[in-house]
Amino acid sequence: MKKRLVALALAAMTAFSMAACGSSTSGSSSDTASGEQAASSDTASSDSSASGRTLDEIKKDGKIIMVTNAEFEPFEYKDGDDIVGIDVDIANAIADELGVKLEIQDIAFASCIPALQAGKADFIAAGMSITEERKKNVDFTDNYFNASQAIIVPVDSDIAGRADLAGKTVGVQTGTTGDSYCTNEDGSSDVQVGEVKRYEKAVDAAQDVIAGRIDAEVIDNFVADKLVEKNPDKIKKLDEALTEEQYAMALPKGSELTDKFNEILKDLQDSGKLDEIESKYLSAE
Ligand code: GLN
Repeated sequence: MKKRLVALALAAMTAFSMAACGSSTSGSSSDTASGEQAASSDTASSDSSASGRTLDEIKKDGKIIMVTNAEFEPFEYKDGDDIVGIDVDIANAIADELGVKLEIQDIAFASCIPALQAGKADFIAAGMSITEERKKNVDFTDNYFNASQAIIVPVDSDIAGRADLAGKTVGVQTGTTGDSYCTNEDGSSDVQVGEVKRYEKAVDAAQDVIAGRIDAEVIDNFVADKLVEKNPDKIKKLDEALTEEQYAMALPKGSELTDKFNEILKDLQDSGKLDEIESKYLSAE
């Protein structure tokens, strides 16, 4: 199934002219921020072990709680008062299948793993890339999407690829794989950027690129496409991407829900529902 989901994601990427990625640098994530917040978390659920609520408990409660950061179009974003996107539709399909309602909590991306660990949520669906570092703190489902870190620059920039980021000021979203890559926390990045500026919202970094306050933004490719789509005369996405990554949903370590989620994801894949959801958000461009 993993393979099929990857194949699906590749098809989607091809359809949207995703450029080939260069060497891969899977960022070990910068979950330092998360770790700090976890330490100060106060409401770990009483009975619950670190492995989170059981399916029975969730069914009894009648709702399953997802955390996300709704600043990540097309995966999760606000449409008026609603939170919509690919992850939201998939999560709703999972909740339907479990026979419960979906409750979404919108928090900072870097707070998602701490929230899960504190028992405040049942799962994360946030365009979250699988990393070895995160695997120490959460269990991932099978991956359901392939993505990459892309570079956004002003249309008239002389930055043409990763090598040109050397010495430049680059905006990233706090706690993301793009943050890890640019900060070069584990020393595996192939580029030394000059300065990293962290933002809570990808759109704010894009605004600073447009205003000339920073030289570039590093952000997930599909989100980059959406940002450029809104400002095509001001910014562009470079063909060269920085990393190859896979998105998956995250559950508490040892959660009994992970197998169930994988089963449902496979059914959604086999029934064509995943294709349908993706084309709803990706093909209208
Ligand atoms: N895919 C990136 C990561 O996992 C960014 C996710 C996000 O900002 N929602 O770090």
